[in-house]
Amino acid sequence: MRVKHKKWAEPLMAAHPEKMVLDPATVKGHWQDRFEKEQPIQLEVGMGKGQFIIGMAKKHPEINFIGLEIEKTVAAIALKKALPEELPNLQFICADGAELTDFFMDHQIDKLFLNFSDPWPKKRHTKRRLTYHTFLRGYEKVVRPQGSLELKTDNMGFFEFSLMSLNNYGMKFDGIWLDLHHSDENANNVETEYEHKFSELGQPIYKVSAHFDN
Ligand code: SAH
Repeated sequence: MRVKHKKWAEPLMAAHPEKMVLDPATVKGHWQDRFEKEQPIQLEVGMGKGQFIIGMAKKHPEINFIGLEIEKTVAAIALKKALPEELPNLQFICADGAELTDFFMDHQIDKLFLNFSDPWPKKRHTKRRLTYHTFLRGYEKVVRPQGSLELKTDNMGFFEFSLMSLNNYGMKFDGIWLDLHHSDENANNVETEYEHKFSELGQPIYKVSAHFDN
């Protein structure tokens, strides 16, 4: 997600170390201490401006959520949006999702979300896709045994690539939806910002839910 640089972004993040983690490697092994209650942790990699993860945290007080975003200004916008909500079950990280194993001990994450990840359609950028096998290896380490990954996208090419990549990695599929909004699966759906935007344009939303066979 590209947004114009905002000069308040970094100072706001620095002023809220209780909510925004800028050096997640220092918290490795201690994530539960940052939440009010010790309960399962679910993580979104590439949360954008946070609409989904904030919505999930409101809807599921029985789960601890972490939203991770690589772009500073984007992460700061999510932080600004979340602060007035005072959600004790929500934390943010501004860092690269390629480095998850530096941030989390093995099996600390209950479930992982990828929503509307950058599709990187050019073949030479394949390795940047968040479902490329190097990323899957990191996810597999940090999620609990049989831990699941849920992915939503409007991008057919990225969806096809992801299905192949998950399958080739040996993941087991729990569900595939080619038109999420017109399926039973939609009943508990929490929309992301991009999801709202693309579905307004009439585009079908694809979803896959799968788990590691670890
Ligand atoms: N999930 C949001 C945003 C989708 S845009 C939504 O559905 O509305 C994808 C986001 O992933 C962008 O904000 C981008 O900066 C972020 N991103 C891309 N690569 C990343 C990485 N390696 N680690 C963390 N975030 C990443």
